[in-house]
Amino acid sequence: MKVPLLDLTAQYEQLKDQIEPAVLKQMAAQAFVLGPTVENFENNIARYCQVKHAIGMSSGTDALLCALMAFDIGPGDEVIVPTFTFFATAGVVARLGATPVFADIDPLTYNISPDSLADKITDNTRAIIPVHLYGQMAPMTEIMDIARKYELKVIEDACQSIGARQFGQCTGEFGDCSALSFYPSKNLSGFGDGGMLLCQDDELARKFRYLRMHGEDKRYYHSMVGGNFRLDALQAVVLDIKLKYLDSWAAGRQKNAALYDELLAGVTQVRTPFIARDNVSVYNQYVIRAERRDELKEFLTAQQIGNNIYYPVPLHLQECFSTLGGKSGDCPVAEQACKEVLALPVYPELSPEQIRFVADQIKEFYKK
Ligand SMILES: *Cc1c(COP(=O)(O)O)cnc(C)c1O
Repeated sequence: MKVPLLDLTAQYEQLKDQIEPAVLKQMAAQAFVLGPTVENFENNIARYCQVKHAIGMSSGTDALLCALMAFDIGPGDEVIVPTFTFFATAGVVARLGATPVFADIDPLTYNISPDSLADKITDNTRAIIPVHLYGQMAPMTEIMDIARKYELKVIEDACQSIGARQFGQCTGEFGDCSALSFYPSKNLSGFGDGGMLLCQDDELARKFRYLRMHGEDKRYYHSMVGGNFRLDALQAVVLDIKLKYLDSWAAGRQKNAALYDELLAGVTQVRTPFIARDNVSVYNQYVIRAERRDELKEFLTAQQIGNNIYYPVPLHLQECFSTLGGKSGDCPVAEQACKEVLALPVYPELSPEQIRFVADQIKEFYKK
């Protein structure tokens, strides 16, 4: 039996009768960038995420970059990010000439640790980018308490967590704004790159809209320096159709996760994901902690079971950030996680038989 880590064709088969005519119609209209199709999708995302404003962006990375630009983050400023995340979270900070400051994580959820975060605050700290990793939200109550105390901006990196809930609230309802990604491996995935910024504040939303158009407030009149961060209409067509299925796909992922939890419960060498109280995870990834992780990875790969390590190297130890002086031992919890985490297939179209096969192979491996 073959079990890929992600099988986008399974999802496409389900929707192609809707997507293909809609894409052809958009092509016939020859309207490609922003416009009413994107606006309609933005309105539907805003409603889905329970926020006032949604602004279509060219990627999750550009959404994060645009948010930092809107808050005038630049040289001399420090922005605190978790060290255990996708590179983009910190890359955008460095690109603006500001300094990413790396905080350690919670050993159970892998999300930023509020204690470590509080330790990193200096007079130069301007913002925090909490990441909602693997589909579970970071502890926003604690993070917002710290942010209010030190008057810091909070940009939620929700690229892996559209649809997640904490105390019944969505991403974007806590921080100043929130960034989504529609990269093909995310829960709501386009046919290429795409992203979105969410916020509640009218003035901030206006700024985001200007910044994504080179800071243009009237055609060829620029009040700010922005970039080209616009969402394509063809992507909006595809994403708007998929949005209607997002909740049922999240339910499929949750069901798959529950089955893994049950099947792996007795395997002492493996720890299944921990979901904190009052949180609903959308399981962008199902990540176990495993003894002899690298051997297990090799074994599963040989059995044609897809798997991956998110992430093998914490950001404070990345070569490009070596000038910041990060060293081994600075963030021990994240460093340990990098050695032990392994993502298993969890996409909604998986069959229970496939999940049983994966769990059986993991048990088989630890018998040796
Ligand atoms: C995917 C991802 C991003 C970047 O999104 P892109 O759309 O690929 O630019 C940023 N942060 C996290 C945590 C992500 O998973």
